[in-house]
Amino acid sequence: MSDKWLPVSAALAAMQSQITPLTATESVDLAVALDRVLAAPVYAPINVPGFDNSAMDGYAVRAAEANTGEPLQVVGSAYAGHPFDGELPLASCVRIMTGAQMPVGADAVIMQEQVERTDASIVCQANMQTGDNVRLRGSDIHQDAMLLTAGQRLTATHVGLLASIGIAKVEVIRKVKVALFSNGDELVQPGEALPSSSHLYDSNRFVLSAMLQRLAVEVIDLGHIADDPAALEAVFQQAMRSADVVISSAGVSVGDADFTKDVMAKLGHIEFWKIAMKPGKPFAFGQLGSSWFCGLPGNPVAAVVTMDQIVQPMLRQLAGEQAPASTNYSAEAACTIKKRPGRTDFQRGFFEQKDGKLLVRPIGSQSSAVLTSVARANCFIVLEQDRDTVGAGETVTIQPFDALLT
Ligand code: AMP
Ligand code: MG
Repeated sequence: MSDKWLPVSAALAAMQSQITPLTATESVDLAVALDRVLAAPVYAPINVPGFDNSAMDGYAVRAAEANTGEPLQVVGSAYAGHPFDGELPLASCVRIMTGAQMPVGADAVIMQEQVERTDASIVCQANMQTGDNVRLRGSDIHQDAMLLTAGQRLTATHVGLLASIGIAKVEVIRKVKVALFSNGDELVQPGEALPSSSHLYDSNRFVLSAMLQRLAVEVIDLGHIADDPAALEAVFQQAMRSADVVISSAGVSVGDADFTKDVMAKLGHIEFWKIAMKPGKPFAFGQLGSSWFCGLPGNPVAAVVTMDQIVQPMLRQLAGEQAPASTNYSAEAACTIKKRPGRTDFQRGFFEQKDGKLLVRPIGSQSSAVLTSVARANCFIVLEQDRDTVGAGETVTIQPFDALLT
């Protein structure tokens, strides 16, 4: 067990080097595929659009004929789902609605606002080019093209794309199973009365479970465990039997009632338990039989930040997801930001654009116990381990809150 304070990057690298992504897959209906990770690439079985069609309500014409200024006789109409039958005769046009198939022979659509219409014919008022207002077959998605790759986590747009090529079921990696429990004699469940002034509500289990829901993992909620080594041992035994990852909150520090590390050491193996980050230390990572263990700090902000920054990448990797691109930006500090060298700070900040540049300032209390600061912030101000206090006007790295925090 490493007793050193690991830099954040070293902790992430140590975890990354050990995790092997899950390979088991399942087939799920498109309606419940949001946020799941694709197990295999998806190739388009058809073109989208599947036929040349009109992008406007107007008249389908031959552009060259329309440009002569001669009247074009309206010989029929085409509606979405109801095409014009046959080929467009010379010197004529077809009344056409958005999404309707282009008549054979027509090569452009004049917007209805750009014609002069008499009873039976139109005169074009615009200068038309071939292809104007026509959506060509295969112009969005080409048949046989790879539309999505293995390891992509499906967004709402991906779900729409899959529907557009007629796919009703997708092969995804099975859900990562995460067992979660909170720990501490002082904790009381929401909805119950606080028995004394030294009790507080168990907020961690709820915020952590909500964050996990955003990752589409299967949460096995094992409730709240007292500061009792026997009870902790029992819950660890249960958790490691049922989950790929066991996440606890609190009890990993060096206090007299912090039994998690001892029980973990007995049942498994702790790799490291100190990360040089603020908030965040202590954070324990190890192995429990064939499960992974993440022991999160008890202070609510520290629990939230380590879940977001340290546990999230591991869960994404385990789920077979491709590593996401960095979402860090540079911003100007709008005020002095206090910092001591030695740990990477994830300060809660609020950024906004002013006069064409991003400005950021820390928001609320930076205490690791004050959850309201996270609720009011919209980003982390990531201050490098060796950095000292930042002066107003200096450049800092910001990381807008991701899906787990918004
Ligand atoms: P510990 O890691 O057990 O020393 O806890 C550190 C701090 O976090 C203490 O002030 C605890 O009361 C608080 N804490 C621990 N667990 C929770 C929880 N589930 N919800 C809210 N606060 C907690
Ligand atoms: Mg405790």
